[in-house]
Amino acid sequence: MAIAPEMTAPLRLCLDGDALVHNWRWLKASGGAAACGAAVKANGYGLGAVDVATRLLDAGCRDFFVATWAEAVEVEPFLPEDASLSVFHGVRAADMEAALASRARPVLNTPEQVARWKPTGRACDVMVDTGMNRLGLAAGADVSGLNIHTLMSHLASADQDAVQNGRQLELFRDAAATIAAQRYSLANSAGICLGADYHFGLTRPGLALYGGLPRGEAAGQIRPVVAVEAEVLQRRRIEAGESVGYNATFTADQPMELAILNIGYADGYLRAFSGKGTAGEGRFPVIGRVSMDLIAIDVRSAPAVGEGDWIAIDYDLPSAAAVSGLSQYELLTLLGRRFERIWR
Ligand SMILES: *Cc1c(COP(=O)(O)O)cnc(C)c1O
Repeated sequence: MAIAPEMTAPLRLCLDGDALVHNWRWLKASGGAAACGAAVKANGYGLGAVDVATRLLDAGCRDFFVATWAEAVEVEPFLPEDASLSVFHGVRAADMEAALASRARPVLNTPEQVARWKPTGRACDVMVDTGMNRLGLAAGADVSGLNIHTLMSHLASADQDAVQNGRQLELFRDAAATIAAQRYSLANSAGICLGADYHFGLTRPGLALYGGLPRGEAAGQIRPVVAVEAEVLQRRRIEAGESVGYNATFTADQPMELAILNIGYADGYLRAFSGKGTAGEGRFPVIGRVSMDLIAIDVRSAPAVGEGDWIAIDYDLPSAAAVSGLSQYELLTLLGRRFERIWR
């Protein structure tokens, strides 16, 4: 077999493991006596599920959540005996073989899933719907004969001061009063910020671990984890009247200097940033349309920037969300496969 030549990617995510752990600790402390888990679905919100889970394990996290069995299979080998792994989407008929070969627990969401799992006699989690009308059993559903580890529900509007939060809390309390389980869990990142009533025995943050700001209460507490950097492939000068990029959406009204960076919408830097995004802490506006693999930025203010230099794309999650109209969740989970992911 030929030896692969040494290759480096022209775009990278610089990931701050200390900030990740700091965020988990803050979320854990905010949750009072509740255990604090970690949602590592969608490849750890794009950062890398195994890299995230191993760091949080070292910090003391013992409860992990993924969406599917394929995700569970990836993470499970790295978890010690005393750690727990739950699969939010439960168990389809096609998942049974993988599920029985795994230590992970399905989060049962439907009567069909309950019927499928009950004969195994094995531990499970159960999701009850309290008004989100996404996944979960209706109030009063038959869960007899199940060995329920964690009973949970999910908040639909915890990032807002919505009356729905209190209603969901009430309904979850009702469910918890009638369904016996080892533990009860309601709060995601934003739910943790809603206060002690919402904490129960276990919290399930995702977004805030990764530097997302779930609610104002977390401002100044949550540290950014992800920095996005791309390499300059070319520096070029354009004259007044020349246009830039697909469909010439930008025309220079004076001579300009551009740097072309190796990042584009195929990397998750979507066209929502066309003419709106910035790099270098606001110094370098994105000019014209974002291409699949490239963007142009205005570097008139930085004569020294040239081919081979690394430029930080402004990707502070709350502000990038405001600029692009994308959610902080989308900004994280879009980050693509071409980035080299470098932890420090
Ligand atoms: C994704 C998810 C979480 C984590 O939510 P964040 O808002 O990212 O903190 C918790 N619980 C369930 C059921 C989820 O699907």
